[in-house]
Formats: sequence, C-alpha cells, structure tokens
Amino acid sequence: MKIQCIGASGGEVTGSKFLLTTNENLKILIDCGMYQGKGLETDAMNRDLSFEPDEIDFVILSHAHIDHSGLIPYIHKNGFKGKVFCTPATRDLCAIMLPDSGKIQETDTAQFNKKLAFQKMSPVEPLYTMQDAISCLGHFITVPYKTPFLITPTLTFEFYDSGHILGGASIYISFVENNETKTLLYTGDVGRYNKRILPDPSSLPQADYVMCESTYGNRLHKSVENAEQELMMIVLDACAKRKGKLIIPAFAIGRAQEIVYALHRLKSNGNLPSIDIFVDSPLAVSATGIFRLHSESFNEEMQQFILTNPDPFGFDNLHYVRTIEDSKRLNTYNRPCIIISASGMMEAGRVKHHLANNIDNPRTTVLSVGYCAPSTLGAKIMRGDKEVSIFGSKYKVRAKLANIQSYSGHADYLELQQYLSTQIPEKVRKFFVIHGEDDALVSFANLMTENGFQNVVIPRFKEEFELS
Ligand SMILES: [Zn+2]
Repeated sequence: MKIQCIGASGGEVTGSKFLLTTNENLKILIDCGMYQGKGLETDAMNRDLSFEPDEIDFVILSHAHIDHSGLIPYIHKNGFKGKVFCTPATRDLCAIMLPDSGKIQETDTAQFNKKLAFQKMSPVEPLYTMQDAISCLGHFITVPYKTPFLITPTLTFEFYDSGHILGGASIYISFVENNETKTLLYTGDVGRYNKRILPDPSSLPQADYVMCESTYGNRLHKSVENAEQELMMIVLDACAKRKGKLIIPAFAIGRAQEIVYALHRLKSNGNLPSIDIFVDSPLAVSATGIFRLHSESFNEEMQQFILTNPDPFGFDNLHYVRTIEDSKRLNTYNRPCIIISASGMMEAGRVKHHLANNIDNPRTTVLSVGYCAPSTLGAKIMRGDKEVSIFGSKYKVRAKLANIQSYSGHADYLELQQYLSTQIPEKVRKFFVIHGEDDALVSFANLMTENGFQNVVIPRFKEEFELS
C-alpha cells in the first residue's frame, strides 16, 4: 500500500486529499477537499488534481466541510464512477453544502466571465454547477460510527467520532498485505473536548501509521466552559444596557447552532432578556434541520436537555429567516435584537448587509465567535480598523467589538495529544503531521517526537510513502 499527499500538506490547511494505492492497484481517495481562500490561484489549484478521476475506485470522506468534501462534484463531473463512503450526518450535510458550493461556483464564474467579456476574452466554465453537485449525491453510501465496512476481503475501514462537526469522523483503515494486517489512522479534523452539542472525540484503536491534523498544533484555546457566561454578559451589555443590535457573524454549519443552543440554555435558565433573535442565513437554517435529524450524534448533556426541551434549536422569540424580503425587513427593525448570520469571516453572505446597515451605529455590537483569515473583512473589523469597505462603499466602524475565542472547531495541541493518548508510540511505524501552517506543523511534529513517536514526518506536497 502506498499513500500520496495531494492536499492539506506542505503547509496547506485546505484541499485535503490523500491517495491510497493498494498492491492490487485499487485507488482510494481519503477526502476530496477544495482549496479555499487564495482567489484566482485557488481555482487553478482545484482544477489540477494530480490524478485521473476515472481511476479512483472509492472516496472515504471524513466530514462535510468543503475543504474536505468540496471537489467530489468536480471528480464526479470528470469521470469518477465510484462510491463515496461517509457517516449518515455527513451525507445529509453534504446534501445542502455541495449544491450550495455549486451555486457559489456558478455565481463567481458568471461575474468573472463578465470581466473576461469586457476584455474580449472567452468565458470559462465553473468548476462545477449546482446540478453536478446534486447528481454526485446519488453515489454516497452511509456507514455509521464504529461499524467495520469491508471494501474488499483484505481492506476494511471504520469511522470514529472526531467531535469536530456533526458527522465528523476519523478513519481507521485495516489492510492485509504479504499476510500481515496493517492499520492506518487518519484523524481528519479533530474537535475540542467538553463542547455543548457534540460528544468528545472517541477513543481510538492502536494504529501502525498515523496521519494527524495540526491546525492548532502550536496553540492553546480558552476553556469551553466559560463561553456561555461570556455570551450572556455580551448580550446583556449589547441589548439590555446599550439597547442596540448584537450582530454575530457565524459559520452556517456548527457555529450558528452552537450559538442558538447556548442562547436557548440561557433563556431556559432565565438569563436572557426578552428580545428577538434572528438566524438570517438560508444555509444555517437548512443545516439546523439536519442537526434536528441527528440527535443520535449529540452528547449526553444535550440528549438530557432534549427530554425537557424537544427542540434545542427552537424557542420563543427565535426566528429563522429564509427569504430575502424577510432579511431586508431586519434593516428597519429598531428594537434591541440579536442577528446571527453567515459568513463567520464576514466576507460573504447576508451578514455583510447587516454590517453595512449597522456598523456605523455606536449602539451596535459585533461579536466574533470564530477565526477570521488575515485579509478578510472580519479580520479588518476585529483588529480595529476605523473604516472598512463593504460592497465597494466606505463605512466608519463605530460599533462596539467583542469576541469569544473558545468556540473553536479544532482541538488545540493538548487536546490533539489527548486524542492520541491511546496510541503506544513504539507501535507506530510512521507518524505523519498534516493539515497545518508551517509553524504549527513543525511545532506539533517536535511535540510528537518528544512524546516518543518515531519517524515523525511532515509530508511535502505530492510526496508518496510506502506503508510496508
Ligand atoms: Zn473541518
């Protein structure tokens, strides 16, 4: 068996793709993620696959985030005829996220083609369309956690809950070669411990080879327990004391639901003022429906909460906004309220309209609950720029700024260490550190070496390794 690192390696944190080739020349892709965040360069990187889609026999998908799943419609469109294995919740999230991604590709390409037409150049095709994304979903096969699935008589895989997003999994692959069984553990993205909705990452079996993410391989997060208290203090200040709007830009999948559930708990405990709360993101509204379908994936505390509150994502004064008309109506809503809207980095989506309408009002509060990449509107606002550009117009930033740093989707290095604590270092033949920026990769690789793992490697882009 060989493994080739063709994404989320060599310092990249997006575009996760790892190609396994067995001695019988069966080709399995672990994740098929899209590169994100580098403008035009990203498009070229996504079109250059490093393999022929029709040669791939199967995809095993760790979770629904686009940087892990987003190129499945693209390889399907270009000849991939195999099955995609994932957990049931991952499939359901992909059913909304991949068509949404197709729609974004179509819209972005149409805008780009307008510029090309102006320069009398030929138009380009979108990476894939909404229809391509819908059509690939028929090839998904769902496999629950901790249920070994036989791909061939000598190759089995099993999903373990990675606690990262709903349906997120680490992938444990067993294969027999030369009469010897070997195992490969691919962590995928690993979540935090003691979260509110999802369980802790599962305990993992021993593996011969480990591929571990290192997004926060050099960072420590604040504890999760204080987040709800911090949120309450910010709501009271923004809406009760200052009587303004609290705008919470949040990722549509996962973070939006975490915030809604936290507000529900505060309300149940009598700690929330009587104000309207709006979730204004069609994708977040659809994703919340998927969360409701998968209560089996919730942690024990959440399952207890459901016994007395059957809908954890619904309560008095909470309104889900789908239509553009209803969203626009919020512009003239003049009472204190909370608006949760995507995108989390404030670069796209309806949150930009809410920022444009409210950011110059000193009664407004903008609360960041996630990471904002350096060049994004979110980063500019949160670092304290006095003026920002939104939809081509300049706006003074007079709103109060707040942030809660503990809502991270990724484990920090101590939590990654905890996740790997069932691995006996001497039994691991090779330890691959992937999915991190350079500093995080090196720092986490050093930590793993200190922990006793031997042969700790940071794969280069396209580097191939024999798992013998
Ligand atoms: Zn992820």
